[in-house]
Amino acid sequence: MNSLSIENLDSEMETNCPVCESKNTKIVQKILDFPHFPQMWFYNLSCSDCHFKYNDFINLAINEPTRYTYLAENKDDYTSKIIRSSNGTIRFPNIGAILEPGPKADGFITNIEGMLRDFQGKAEFLLRDATTEEEIIRINEFIKMIDEYINGNLPIEIVIEDPFGNSSLIPFDQSKLKKQRLSNKEAEKLKTGLMIFEDAQNTSS
Ligand SMILES: [Zn+2]
Repeated sequence: MNSLSIENLDSEMETNCPVCESKNTKIVQKILDFPHFPQMWFYNLSCSDCHFKYNDFINLAINEPTRYTYLAENKDDYTSKIIRSSNGTIRFPNIGAILEPGPKADGFITNIEGMLRDFQGKAEFLLRDATTEEEIIRINEFIKMIDEYINGNLPIEIVIEDPFGNSSLIPFDQSKLKKQRLSNKEAEKLKTGLMIFEDAQNTSS
């Protein structure tokens, strides 16, 4: 890896919006220095006309299918940061919650509590469309369970998998973080998001 090219990535430039083609569109690229993850490239595109936004993270130090596993057991652990790239899959096996990349997936940073709140918000959204009593009970139980986990800082395992190694966990306690290389078979099973920019290039050329 050439360090000069990394420094050059820290930049701002203008481009065309992949949605409305407006030229009032900016790309900001930065190298973020997280502890234990020094070469995290952050990429943000935003269009001031149609308000389309796209974020992503690329870990310049890792380029292989990777799984991080962490057991959050206390309030501090719950503050561990999650860096989710557009291809990251996030699972909480204890509560059966999973976030897989869909066609509009993009990158974000949150922490374990924030991720659980996000799942709770999605469940509340599902509740609006729930029709059977069984479904309503099941979703309400899930919402209540997340409150119990967050309020009590109950032990919960988080698993982050990424076929390109771009998603990461910045743990409160580094000694508890498990990192594994995924086998090719495991990596192939992971869903990947649609690369919006590849599509945009294809349609404009
Ligand atoms: Zn636009």
